[in-house]
Amino acid sequence: MSESYDVIVVGAGNAALCAALSASERVKKILVLERSPEDEAGGNSRFTAGLMRVAYAGVEDLKKVIELSPEEIERTDFGAYTEEQFLDDVARVTEYRCDPDLTELLVRNSLPAVIWMRSKGVRFTAAWGRQAFNIAGRFKFWGGLTVEAVGGGPGLVESLTSAAKKNGIEIWYGARATSLVADDDGVHGVRVKYQGKTREIRSRSVVLAAGGFQANPEWRARYLGPGWELAKVRGTRFNTGDVIRMALDIGAAPAGNWSGCHAVAWERNAPEFGDLAVGDQFQKHSYPWGVYINAHGRRFVDEGADFRNYTYAKYGRVILAQPGQFAWQVFDAKVKAQLRDEYKIRQVTKVTANTLEELCAKLEDTDGSAALEELKAYNAAVRADIPFNPNVKDGRRTEGLKIDKTNWANTLDTPPFEAYAVTCGITFTFGGLRITNDAQVLDSDGAPIRGLYAAGELVGGIFWFNYPGGSGLTNGSVFGRIAGASAAKAPATA
Ligand SMILES: Cc1cc2nc3c(=O)[nH]c(=O)nc-3n(C[C@H](O)[C@H](O)[C@H](O)COP(=O)(O)OP(=O)(O)OC[C@H]3O[C@@H](n4cnc5c(N)ncnc54)[C@H](O)[C@@H]3O)c2cc1C
Repeated sequence: MSESYDVIVVGAGNAALCAALSASERVKKILVLERSPEDEAGGNSRFTAGLMRVAYAGVEDLKKVIELSPEEIERTDFGAYTEEQFLDDVARVTEYRCDPDLTELLVRNSLPAVIWMRSKGVRFTAAWGRQAFNIAGRFKFWGGLTVEAVGGGPGLVESLTSAAKKNGIEIWYGARATSLVADDDGVHGVRVKYQGKTREIRSRSVVLAAGGFQANPEWRARYLGPGWELAKVRGTRFNTGDVIRMALDIGAAPAGNWSGCHAVAWERNAPEFGDLAVGDQFQKHSYPWGVYINAHGRRFVDEGADFRNYTYAKYGRVILAQPGQFAWQVFDAKVKAQLRDEYKIRQVTKVTANTLEELCAKLEDTDGSAALEELKAYNAAVRADIPFNPNVKDGRRTEGLKIDKTNWANTLDTPPFEAYAVTCGITFTFGGLRITNDAQVLDSDGAPIRGLYAAGELVGGIFWFNYPGGSGLTNGSVFGRIAGASAAKAPATA
């Protein structure tokens, strides 16, 4: 164990491991500090499905990343997801607040980043199970989310970790970074609590990739607002904002949507933090095919406003704002086959009934008679003359309701009926550090901090209010790769 390195990377999730691998193309002595024990390592990245949003012009681009057989190509319409579409999606869902330079880097480097990851040993497949519909025997991909790491998040972290080890990168688990070694000349290393002792480790440069502050209830209430301490955390318990604070303490500039976060519909009785055995399966993302009902028996959101990919990340906040911080997702038998796999797990809070009357009476903590009245009003308002089509925004809507459902509005008329109880599950926070296009951290006067780089969830400025699904991993990979290269090239500060 040497106490002096070329580059120290803080964190061992996707962004950090990409940074370490990228740095290893230029320098030899790299140390990764990971706060969690080894059996919980991998951060939020390990909890994911491994879905990555990547721009591609067609199947030829995908073949650079995924091994596809001629039969698979024959029976699949992969379409294309152009850089322009990706840029538009980020711009639109972030209400045009996204940093234009960083967003452009994210989009234009998305395909090169996954090709590079493949060269390091990460295997990818097409997300057949999640992002493709089978239409008359042919799969059709939709929503720009075609690439998935083999083995999901666990597979991704495992292959990045073994690539790091193969490349001679040292990883310390149970090593919590506590502060930066810094002076007027910049950053010279990290103080870390490891094996019960705090020690100072020197390095030419440091990459911070230690996630957001979503697992810190005090910071959630402080920055996201009152009530956010009541949300469940979908992923790792270790992303508590430590490392953001470390950077702010030496004058780094905060950036982005500090009161914003990614939060989704999540099993009401899920544990306080993510459970690696369940992964992302506590999520409940099939609401576009049903309706939401709150404790007062009322609908409160347009469940069909857009494809799931473009609404799921902001609806957690809407659920948190409901009385009792929960809601029911109600479906009938017509859409049962369309419900995602996560509805089939054992750990669900679910009621089933043969009539709407019976179902509403069973909705715990909910005004059943108001719910029944609401569902009847909803059924009566559906434009049944417009055909239902899950592959497009079909315009099959309700009319005349206080809150209309504007696509995929099916009447609830076919028993058995089902309702699932959900609360708000927070995924990650949007506020973080300000970086340059080279992923160097800026101070609050706008000057780059020598020797300090950042990537992934703890960078602010790209995602605001909402985010297009699958952009989190891509963000970590693209900027991790840039940060690692920049850190390796950085001149010594000491
Ligand atoms: C359930 C779930 C499903 C998701 N699904 C997807 C998906 O399919 N596609 C997608 O793109 N995104 C998905 N996301 C979002 C995605 O996980 C994140 O955007 C991404 O993984 C963030 O990567 P990161 O490397 O920045 O952070 P992380 O992967 O969280 O890594 C940060 C690491 O830093 C460590 N750390 C924290 N503090 C310290 C410290 N003081 N010292 C040392 N180490 C520290 C943590 O232990 C952690 O290992 C999902 C998230 C969750 C929770």
